[in-house]
Amino acid sequence: MPPHNLADTVRDCSLCAAHLPQPPRPILQWHPAARILIAGQAPGQKAHDAAKPFADASGDRLRQWLGLTTEQFYNPKLIAILPMGFCFPGRGKSGDLPPRPECAPSWRPALLHGLKHLKLTLVIGQYAKDWHLPDAQDSLTDTVAGWQQYWPDIIPLPHPSPRNNIWLTRNPWFARQLLPALQQRVQQVLAGAD
Ligand code: SF4
Repeated sequence: MPPHNLADTVRDCSLCAAHLPQPPRPILQWHPAARILIAGQAPGQKAHDAAKPFADASGDRLRQWLGLTTEQFYNPKLIAILPMGFCFPGRGKSGDLPPRPECAPSWRPALLHGLKHLKLTLVIGQYAKDWHLPDAQDSLTDTVAGWQQYWPDIIPLPHPSPRNNIWLTRNPWFARQLLPALQQRVQQVLAGAD
C-alpha cells in the first residue's frame, strides 16, 4: 500500500470496537514528511467529537508549550500526532480510561517506520513513555526531570491536561528550564536546522 494511505487504513480500523463506549473513530495525524512526532495517550471526548487531535484545553496548552500556531500544529507534513490509542477509550472513575492495549501493537510499528524524516519525538505521559522510553524505569516525573539525557531526539513531557495543574505548580523547573529549551528545539527542527 502507498505509504500515504496508511493513515486512511488506520481510520477504517474497528479492531477493538467491542471495548469502546462509542463507534470507533481513530484520530491521528500522519504524513511521511513529518519532522516532529507527538506521541500522546488517547483522544478525549472533545477530540472524539471534533474528529481532531488535541481539540481541547490540553491542546491549547500543548501548542503554547511548543510555541506553535494552530496552523503549524495541524500541518501533517510538519507534525505527526500518534497517541498510544487512536480512539476515545471512555471514562473511568478518575478520568479517561487507558488507551486500548490492542492499538499500539497493531498500528504503531508501521506508522513509525513510515516517518523517514523524523527528527524529534515528544513523549507525552506514562503510556507513551513505556513505549518510546522502555528503559526509563523511573517515574514519569523523574523521566521528565532527566530530559537532558534523551536530548535532542526525544523530549519527555507531562500530559498538558488541566488535571496536571498541581504537577506543574510542584515542578516549577519544568516551565523555567524545559519549556524554553523545548520551544527552541521545535523551532530548530521546523527550520530544518537540525
Ligand atoms: S483504538 Fe486502535 S485498535 Fe481500537 S478500533 Fe481504534 S484504531 Fe482500532
